Amino acid sequence: MIPDDVTDIRDKNVKNIIQAIRNSESVTKRELEQKLNLSFATVSNICNSLLSMGLVKLIEDTIVKRSIGRTSKALVLNTSRFWIIALNLQKFGILEIALINLHREIINESVYEYADMRDFNEFVDFCTSSYQSFIDAYKIDTKNIIGVGVVVSGIHDDVTHHTVASEISFLENQPLRDSLRKAFGTTVFVDNDVNLCTLALHNIDNYENMLYLYIGEGTGVGVMQNGNIVRGERGYSPEICHMPLGTLDTPCPLCGSQACLQTDISYSGFLSKYYSRRISFNQTQQNLWLNFVQAVKAGETRALKVCEENAHILGNATSILANLFAPQQIVLGGCDEVLFKVMLPIILNQVNHRKVVSSKPNYSLLYDPFVKRNTLLGAAELVYVHWYPTI
Ligand SMILES: [Zn+2]
Repeated sequence: MIPDDVTDIRDKNVKNIIQAIRNSESVTKRELEQKLNLSFATVSNICNSLLSMGLVKLIEDTIVKRSIGRTSKALVLNTSRFWIIALNLQKFGILEIALINLHREIINESVYEYADMRDFNEFVDFCTSSYQSFIDAYKIDTKNIIGVGVVVSGIHDDVTHHTVASEISFLENQPLRDSLRKAFGTTVFVDNDVNLCTLALHNIDNYENMLYLYIGEGTGVGVMQNGNIVRGERGYSPEICHMPLGTLDTPCPLCGSQACLQTDISYSGFLSKYYSRRISFNQTQQNLWLNFVQAVKAGETRALKVCEENAHILGNATSILANLFAPQQIVLGGCDEVLFKVMLPIILNQVNHRKVVSSKPNYSLLYDPFVKRNTLLGAAELVYVHWYPTI
């Protein structure tokens, strides 16, 4: 066991050094030594290996030069050494592929469309040929790809390695991750959009404890606790869509129960309330949604009332989550910003009235205008956190 422990410590040190360089504009070996509480010999040894593999570069440290009048060298990440590919499979008919560097920048993106798909195997073939076209189009050396992060509307089951509760029927209960690993010849990780947005914001904004609420065609939550996405048995994450907090008298299409939160807090829920008839939203009904958003923007009383009613319901759900997880920050993504602005004071009022400790500073609620970008960056981050380079 001892050699394993030693290897673990070294792997951890390597990763901590890469992460510290990644999070700095530039950093010297001395600064790394102090920041990470490691010996200079360890820092120097690992940095030299990272320089040899081209993952970091040396630049002249102008700050040191200015202050003490001599030239010193600082380390920066070589952003064109390694790449991560993100695949977004959330929507039927669309496969989105993005090339992302270790500096969290989306370098290239392409969309590959399909109209019919007979089964899972045909879909894996489609993904494989699209992936290959993408690699060829942008002349990416596959040796420099550290892995592929895949976004799904569903859950990756850690025991069976199958995708379950998928919104795309041909992915249901299929070995998506393992099939893509085999087809692409690289490591592949799969997660849902809400967890990935949570991971992206944790990484960009350093939130160690946060709640990420999502309203779209469905309702979701991502919970970050002490820097980790909260997961239960088989890797399943917390869900809010079936919490019995809704008001619509409609059976949930997924679980069959009445009063599921998602029946109210989703495009279908907002539209059913606004048009006073049952609407199951699909992509062909974009106009209905745009009309509703326009009515909210114009301050139409009926549209505002729908937002206010749903804000009370979402406020209840958020106060339960805030009591359970004590987040440092709450973020809402997915719905249009104009809806967020109407719902914000009502949700916050609920959440702050039900705080565990009344003297604790009030919660704030931020809007995420970059859901699409953060989903892809989160997929890349999922690959990065599992990456331990051999040096
Ligand atoms: Zn339900």
